[in-house]
Amino acid sequence: MSARLEINLNKIHHNAHILVQRLAVHGISVTGISKATLGSPTIAKVFQNAGVTMLGDSRIENLEKMKEANVSAPMTLIRTPMLSQIDRIVESADISFNTELKIIKALSRASNLIGRTHGIVLMVELGDLREGIMPSDVETIVRSVIKLPNIEFQGIGANLACRNGVTPDDKNMAELSALANSIDKKFGITMNIVSGGNSSNLEWVFRGSTIEGKESSRQIGRINNLRLGEAILLGRNPLDREPIKDLYTDAFNLIGEVIEFKVKPSKPWGEMAQAAFGTPPPIKNQGNIHQVLLAIGEQDTDTGGLTPSAGFEILGASSDHIILNAKENSLAIGDEITFELNYSALLRSMTSPFVNKVMEE
Ligand SMILES: *Cc1c(COP(=O)(O)O)cnc(C)c1O
Repeated sequence: MSARLEINLNKIHHNAHILVQRLAVHGISVTGISKATLGSPTIAKVFQNAGVTMLGDSRIENLEKMKEANVSAPMTLIRTPMLSQIDRIVESADISFNTELKIIKALSRASNLIGRTHGIVLMVELGDLREGIMPSDVETIVRSVIKLPNIEFQGIGANLACRNGVTPDDKNMAELSALANSIDKKFGITMNIVSGGNSSNLEWVFRGSTIEGKESSRQIGRINNLRLGEAILLGRNPLDREPIKDLYTDAFNLIGEVIEFKVKPSKPWGEMAQAAFGTPPPIKNQGNIHQVLLAIGEQDTDTGGLTPSAGFEILGASSDHIILNAKENSLAIGDEITFELNYSALLRSMTSPFVNKVMEE
């Protein structure tokens, strides 16, 4: 059945359930992040059954899709809203993450028009330099936000390790907690949400590199929510991509079909210039090899993020092909090769219309 992603829902459920339980010990709830699944309602329901309390996505299209499919969890837009999408956002997202007062005011007006209340989480810049209000400016913005009609200030959040790989640690997490405390005190409120970050925060919560959910000496402080995508879907810690203990790393498998299998020299011949994707890495001469051509390529996935099953080596890729060394494996035309995926490969496979998505129990 041509190029496909096989998605094991039981393994996703297992991963989500373990993470929800381990974080509950520390008073931390889980927002399941669906953007790498293209907002799959089936996977969102698996998240929910596993104890995830909220869903988050960076794309309003994905939130709309889940809502239309009757996914009942509260929905959070985790990328700062576009002014051009405000009407859709107040319609389908219960909460959005924000950093610009102009956008929050537009959300207030749009919510007012449809008689709803929209929740606001203010994102705080803690050093990774993607989205976020500078910490010293947060109080001023809260003062404006809490006065706006049809807006409910829900709390604050931060996001690290995405642009520059700045690591969540005691120092930056304590800064977020201290900010939550000072804002609560200043305005006489108790904010609902202090969202510490994404999958890369797990190591901070559980101390050490194994994320075993043992007793932790961490000062969790006010952090009461994490937003998890990669850790649930791929079972890995994004800081070093090591497997998280007891989680599956193979809930997703990408499968490609063999369309050519020939003995060929490993070294190209003729004058050399650039290839389809720039200058290819130098090729080591291995003499004649069993070269496999698969009908899957850069239009289907990030081929650099694939790990083939044992005994195969990826030699190269172009828009529509992956080239493998089959080594000792004997293959027939029409056979299939299975790959594990990293986050980037998963994202591209899920969003490629050429890759069938096959959900399995
Ligand atoms: C993508 C994203 C997440 C989830 O990140 P993972 O590393 O997949 O857990 C969390 N928060 C924001 C703002 C994101 O954009």
